[in-house]
Amino acid sequence: MNCKEAERKIPSFLQDELDGSQLEEFIAHVEACPECKEELSIQFLVSEGLERLESGNNFNLQEELLMKLADAGHRISLHHKLWRTLICLEVAVAVAILIAVFVVLHL
Ligand SMILES: [Zn+2]
Repeated sequence: MNCKEAERKIPSFLQDELDGSQLEEFIAHVEACPECKEELSIQFLVSEGLERLESGNNFNLQEELLMKLADAGHRISLHHKLWRTLICLEVAVAVAILIAVFVVLHL
């Protein structure tokens, strides 16, 4: 993902609309690219800040952004775990089929 793509995805990220590989690529880029991380911080502060000012809540937005990024990291690792489980299941099914074929051929 390049900077232009990452910038375009910032609003989607803030709306929690990114998922799976999109989210992963976005986070990987933002973590590695100070400019895009800065841009993300600014857009987050602007969009969340305006909302909070209107509702008059106290807030610590920088911390919330870090939590949002950490949460995305959790979701990515969960995605990886699910993916690995799926692959293990497929391997198990393939092995079961091989065993069944083997048994049938040797009856
Ligand atoms: Zn960038």
